[in-house]
Amino acid sequence: MSALQNTVRADVQATQAYVVANATGMVKLDAMENPHELPLALREELAERLKHAALNRYPEPQMPALESALRQAFDIPEDAAVLFGNGSDELIDIVIRTCCMPGDVVLSPVPTFVMYAVSSQWAHARFVGVDFNADLSLNLPALLQAIDAHKPKVVFLAYPNNPTGVAMRKADIEAVIQAAPGLVVVDEAYEAFADESFMPDVLKHPNVLVLRTLSKLGLAGIRLGYAVASKDWISQIDKVRPPYNVNILTRIAAEFALRHHGVLDDQAARLRENRAKLSAALKRLAAPRKGMEVFDSHANFLLFRVPQAQQVFELLKNEGILIKYVGKMHPLLQDCLRVTVSTDAENQSFLTALEVALNQLS
Ligand SMILES: *Cc1c(COP(=O)(O)O)cnc(C)c1O
Repeated sequence: MSALQNTVRADVQATQAYVVANATGMVKLDAMENPHELPLALREELAERLKHAALNRYPEPQMPALESALRQAFDIPEDAAVLFGNGSDELIDIVIRTCCMPGDVVLSPVPTFVMYAVSSQWAHARFVGVDFNADLSLNLPALLQAIDAHKPKVVFLAYPNNPTGVAMRKADIEAVIQAAPGLVVVDEAYEAFADESFMPDVLKHPNVLVLRTLSKLGLAGIRLGYAVASKDWISQIDKVRPPYNVNILTRIAAEFALRHHGVLDDQAARLRENRAKLSAALKRLAAPRKGMEVFDSHANFLLFRVPQAQQVFELLKNEGILIKYVGKMHPLLQDCLRVTVSTDAENQSFLTALEVALNQLS
């Protein structure tokens, strides 16, 4: 055995790296990105600001300008504290390492966002998944039973959920919070596309943290996530955060974009309209086809089931349309595909290619 084989954790050696598909030249509908860029005039103004970034200095530990821009842009309760992360992915990891000793349980309904399980594994925590119902709604009795049995340190609720797009009922979230002995993280990555948010209620319970990100709103490239909770929770979690985790370019870009968040809100509103149009079009394709099913979504993507999903995925890819095949993620997602809602033109390219693929396979 080599030094590497003797040294690298066996579970790391057995793991495949997180695969990011090569999307060069493709219509990219696989990663819930906002297809719109900032308007040119804003980008030029941003470039001007970035010119003055002190690249030779470590970023200052406090970010009052960014925090105040964030508080003005979003409905964050005044008494709540905010913690920034290099994407919300990093905050998921930090929260788990703040709360879990080896063997402690992290619990989530599944299928859900994979990083909850991935970060748990690298932190030596034990991830317990509780299956959604077959219609992808929350199985609340099963979840409450699992909380009672496993006493999780952290429960993650993606609200709305990825990759299903389903938003659980607020009353169910409250039931989970009541039952959980530890922290409940309500992950609102898709808040811009949802009807409801748990943010106004974050301080109404002693064990809730609301997690958000600017990624799906249109700033995936700068990597900025934020956690909102009581000052007590945030000050503990902050101890585990690496110093300087949010770089100066991200800070400047995020503060600038948040001062113009109306632009991002308008883009999100357009995507919500396009979601309704795309969903209706997919349902029209599904109506005459046996085994094809479209799930309602509160996020900027749609999940649908279709016979021979993997072949459909490949045929679309050959046509330059990249979506996500999630059929192997979990038994409940058998033959499922996930497509990001995009511009009218890109949605139409997808629909056209999908119809051709479906007719070819039938
Ligand atoms: C995309 C996503 C994230 C990660 O967001 P980043 O801020 O880009 O790291 C977190 N949670 C859910 C549910 C997501 O879908």
